Amino acid sequence: MLEDIDRVLLTEEEIKERVAELGAEISRDYAGKDLVLICILKGALHFMADLSRHISIPVDMDFMAISSYGASTKSSGEVRILQDLDAPIANRHVLIVEDIVDSGLTLKYLVDNLSSRRPASLKIATLLDKPARRVVPITTDYNGFQIPDEFVVGYGLDYAEKYRNLPFIGILKPEVYK
Ligand code: 5GP
Repeated sequence: MLEDIDRVLLTEEEIKERVAELGAEISRDYAGKDLVLICILKGALHFMADLSRHISIPVDMDFMAISSYGASTKSSGEVRILQDLDAPIANRHVLIVEDIVDSGLTLKYLVDNLSSRRPASLKIATLLDKPARRVVPITTDYNGFQIPDEFVVGYGLDYAEKYRNLPFIGILKPEVYK
């Protein structure tokens, strides 16, 4: 698996530190509020698990699975819900926990979809942001790292379902997907 990685972009230690900072910020901002974290599967699994352990206020967690790129590295813009939330979010404070914002199409769909369920508020936490490739404007509220326009894997992010279990975020060698 390591031989497919060109270089490490974010080390395990850097991710850990930043996720702890985001958790502290979220704990302050939502103190006294009824907060639901919505993990977007599968990519945000590791981020959700670590972020939630750095949030010191009570939270509910729910999960939504959506279709991703499959074995491609570009977003089609077509998003499909594979698994919906267990519970309604009306009148609750909702924080979407996402792995990466690239074109922004996935989050645009999610924001439209979840807004229609009338939450008290709706915000976005993303571990990674690739602003260079944005197609639709998306404002994230909690942002781990801005990264260059490279295809990354690890810490939940896959290529064709592989590499999610790498503890760091690395740039995949282009010959692996070309
Ligand atoms: P968007 O709709 O913003 O273009 O893409 C969002 C989704 O595409 C992310 O949730 C993620 O699953 C996938 N994605 C975007 N960029 C990357 C990347 O560099 N590496 C991986 N593994 N997935 C990505």
